[in-house]
Amino acid sequence: MPSNTDEPTKQHLLDLTPDDLAVALKEMGEPGYRAKQILQWVYERNASSWDEMTNLSKPLRERMAERFTIFSSEVVRRAASTDGTVKLLLRWPDGATSECVMIPTEKSKTACVSSQVGCPVGCRFCASGLDGLQRNLSTGQIIEQALYARREALAAGDRLSNIVFMGLGEPLANYDNVIGAVEIINADWGLGIGARKITISTVGLPKQIRKLAHEGYQVNLALSLHAPNDALRAELIPWAEKISIRELTSACAEYFQMTGREITLEYTLLAGTNDSEANARELSGFVKRLRCNVNLLRYNPVESLPYRRPSAEAAHAFQERLRALGVNAHIRKSRGKDIDAACGQLRRREMQEQGGISLPVVDG
Ligand code: SF4
Repeated sequence: MPSNTDEPTKQHLLDLTPDDLAVALKEMGEPGYRAKQILQWVYERNASSWDEMTNLSKPLRERMAERFTIFSSEVVRRAASTDGTVKLLLRWPDGATSECVMIPTEKSKTACVSSQVGCPVGCRFCASGLDGLQRNLSTGQIIEQALYARREALAAGDRLSNIVFMGLGEPLANYDNVIGAVEIINADWGLGIGARKITISTVGLPKQIRKLAHEGYQVNLALSLHAPNDALRAELIPWAEKISIRELTSACAEYFQMTGREITLEYTLLAGTNDSEANARELSGFVKRLRCNVNLLRYNPVESLPYRRPSAEAAHAFQERLRALGVNAHIRKSRGKDIDAACGQLRRREMQEQGGISLPVVDG
């Protein structure tokens, strides 16, 4: 895949809608219909270089290449798991790195994309959060990850069917760029993936959840709750100090009302911290107020952090408690265990080898 890491001043083609590109082409003295042709090459025909666009004249291809970059990152690591999961570490022109993952199952091929470089939330159990936020990813950089994942899906003999914003970063803290990416992922002229196959995962920003509810997309919302009461949640997630579960319930209820999409709760089980019988009871109360499903994740321990991974039996017992209370709860399987597929792990390994940090991280 070509890269332009030495040319950061060019405009990223993947940031643009057909209308944006038509305007740019008109400024260059070209007819607007070329925009459709160019985007067809990228989104339908998987072109990654201007030279492949043979229905454009050579001089136009050269002028486009001078002004626009298609793929701006380079793949610095590619790790393939025995279960088919493929993880890519991308380096952007400014040297920042981010990860994307293609996760295959029998029924689907899912791209897990990052929305930020690093993460501003700082969850106490997550090493990625400890490093803080470096910067937002642009719309084009998010789309670029999805296109890389689509290549991996096609190489595995299938089309890309789902996109989840569950990589590094808080998607709703990079709202405009994430919505720009959702538009392109969902558009017929773009990746053509239905909104119901797109999931945005958030620690819960009520104002942005309400805004998203009114965007007119039926995307799935996954709420990373991780604790069933405000005190414990604030202990685990610094941003939760200012955001109560009551506010989140109300924002999520509005989301459900506007979109008809059931919320999924993500709950990382931390042994001895949030996996008691009382925690299950509290959690079931929240779930019933919202009518949502629960995904349980067993924590992957982080060196130097005090949290522990519960045994498979303990996780199962928690799931059964929830089920007995009428809650639809699943234990999410870890994928790509043999390739550092937990969130941020490949990036941290790269940084570690460059003389930076030294901690592995949590799932999700
Ligand atoms: Fe950010 Fe997710 Fe880590 Fe929390 S768990 S710090 S939201 S990457």
